[in-house]
Amino acid sequence: MVTNINKIVYEGKAKILYNGLEPKTLIQYFKDDATANNAEKHAIIKSKGILNNFISEYLMNKIELCGVPTHFIKRINDREQLIKKVKIIPVELVVRNKATGSIVKRYGIKESLQFNKPIIEFFYKNDSLGDPLLNENHILEFDWAKPNELEIMKYYALKINKILTDIFNNIKIDLIDFKVEFGRIKDNKNKDFIILADEISPDNCRLWDTDTKKRLDKDIFRKDLGDLIDGYQEVASRLGIKIN
Ligand code: 5GP
Repeated sequence: MVTNINKIVYEGKAKILYNGLEPKTLIQYFKDDATANNAEKHAIIKSKGILNNFISEYLMNKIELCGVPTHFIKRINDREQLIKKVKIIPVELVVRNKATGSIVKRYGIKESLQFNKPIIEFFYKNDSLGDPLLNENHILEFDWAKPNELEIMKYYALKINKILTDIFNNIKIDLIDFKVEFGRIKDNKNKDFIILADEISPDNCRLWDTDTKKRLDKDIFRKDLGDLIDGYQEVASRLGIKIN
C-alpha cells in the first residue's frame, strides 16, 4: 500500500523521492530493483524494498539516538518513509573494517584482511563516471564540501561505524564495510548543517555471519551467491524486526 499521489522529485536505482505533504519533507519509496556493476546487472527482487525500508528505519533510529542527526522522520508504510529534504553532498563515504570488494581489486591486498583502524574512502557520486575514487583535496577544490563539513562527515562516518558494529556484533554479524551519504539542511537561523541521508541497509553494507562468514548483503546478488531475500530476512529477524 502506498500513500503517494505526489510529484516525483528524483528516481534512483533503488528508490524514488516524492514531495512530502509538509514543507521541507520528502517521501522516500523503496523499490524492489537491484543493480550491480553500475547498473550493468539488474533484477527485480520481490519484497527487497520492504525489507530495506524496515531495516533502514531500525538503523536510522539507533543512529539518531546515538547523536548523529539523520534525515529520517518516520516510516509511513511498507515501502515509504517520511524524510527531511536535504541538498545531497555528491560524495559517498565508504568505511571499511575488513578488506573486500573494490579495495581488494584496486590495491591487490588480501581478501578479509582486518584493518588496524577503519579506513574511510570517498567516491564522487556520479553514475556516468562510475563513482570515481576521490581524495580530500578534490572534495575541497571542487567545493563539494567545506572543510568543516568534510570533518563532520568523517566524524559521523566513524561514529556510525561504531554504532553499527556494536549492533551487528550483538547479533553475530560482522560489519565489513558500508557506504553513507550526507546532505545539508538549514537550521532555524538559516545556517547549513550536515545530516545523514539515503538509507542504511544490506544494499549498502557488507554483512557477514560471524561464524559461517555467510554473506547477508547485496553481494548475494552481485556474485550470484543464492537468495538475496533469505539474507536480508535473516538480518531483519536477528535485529528483531517484525514485518507485518
Ligand atoms: P566497494 O567499493 O567495495 O564496491 O563497496 C564498499 C561498500 O560500499 C559496500 O558495502 C557497498 O555495498 C557500498 N557501496 C559502494 N558504492 C555503492 C553504491 O553505489 N550503491 C550502494 N548501494 N552501495 C554502495
